[in-house]
Amino acid sequence: MTFAPRPQAGDLSFLKQLNRSAVLEALRQTPGLTRAEVAQGSKLTKVTVGAAVQALLNEGWLQEGDLQRRGGGRPGRALYLNETRHALVGVEIGVHELHVVTCTLRGTILEERHLALLQTTPEETLDRLAILVEEILETPEIKQRECLGLGLAVPGPTSPSQRRLSLAPNLGWRDVALLDMLRERLPHLGGIWLMDNEAKAAAFGEMYFRNAHHPTPGSLLYISAGSGIGSGLVEGRPLRVIRGVHGLAGEIGHTVLQPSGLYCHCGNRGCAETLVSGWSIRAALGISEESELDKAIARHPEQNRVATTLKHAGEALGMLLLNLHHTLNPAEIVIGGSLTRLGPALMEPALTMFEEHQNRLLPDASRIVPRVLDDSRIVAARGIAAEILSQALSDTPASPRSARVEN
Ligand SMILES: [Zn+2]
Repeated sequence: MTFAPRPQAGDLSFLKQLNRSAVLEALRQTPGLTRAEVAQGSKLTKVTVGAAVQALLNEGWLQEGDLQRRGGGRPGRALYLNETRHALVGVEIGVHELHVVTCTLRGTILEERHLALLQTTPEETLDRLAILVEEILETPEIKQRECLGLGLAVPGPTSPSQRRLSLAPNLGWRDVALLDMLRERLPHLGGIWLMDNEAKAAAFGEMYFRNAHHPTPGSLLYISAGSGIGSGLVEGRPLRVIRGVHGLAGEIGHTVLQPSGLYCHCGNRGCAETLVSGWSIRAALGISEESELDKAIARHPEQNRVATTLKHAGEALGMLLLNLHHTLNPAEIVIGGSLTRLGPALMEPALTMFEEHQNRLLPDASRIVPRVLDDSRIVAARGIAAEILSQALSDTPASPRSARVEN
């Protein structure tokens, strides 16, 4: 393993100092290394690592564990990112819900809040969100910690600067400066502020918070199947999120499956979302936005109609899985979002279609079994918190164009 120091960007702030960043990144990727092992992997001298580790212990970034007697040399203490000193805040604006989490440097959730919210204006949504964030920051667990920043995950593509939401078709919002508007409502919260699409943030977090004890695949695709359908792909080291020139990469809900099909919220016809999405299932079964979809489906009077609708929606999801497999070929696929709560009636046709067709082109290729998350409410919020940490620890940010604001 190698943990090459990154070039210095001329910023003299504590974390930007080269050696300390290299030590932190080494211990993030492989928790439990000793000073000697960090030195070996980073090509830094033992003296340099020793000094950096001592400073990081003093500053509360690291904590020590048990003595390790590996490799026959002098035993050394295992080192870990400190779980007790800092907090990361991740928030997600969903189409029907707001989610706020705080987590540690290793991704452990400290506090979470969820609020059901019917579609309204950006202003009212942000007012409610800011109250949730304030509430969570005032809890005893978080109050004693230093907050490294706030990340905002949104249900649509962001502008190249990642400060504006370009479009959220299922909220009816277009070109909104959401990040700055939220910041105005939380003037006391400093640190790093950034915004990303929710599926991209989720994909990032699913990779970033894994470590050498839970090996990371070469690439990971996260499919967010909820009111709309989005996806995010991350790959490589340092982790890279695939965005495209306008942030549209991964907007699979608006890939066209039926050119003369139904009209979509985006204005085109026959988008995948007209066949599989929370809103199209609601429309097909006459379920209002006010009702929780899984509960309304369970008590729907026409269960045959429900079964047919979900089967067709599942087959459309299977088509999307296959198309993504053949266009992006990710090493791992994770499926989250509220539609997974609809269970086998929807997911089985999707997974069966994928299973039966994925190896048609390459019969000997290893098979991919998508991982389906039953509860993914915190995944995007935790993922955007991971992007905050990535930017705090590294001179190469998770998202090169993310805004960094410091108080
Ligand atoms: Zn569309």
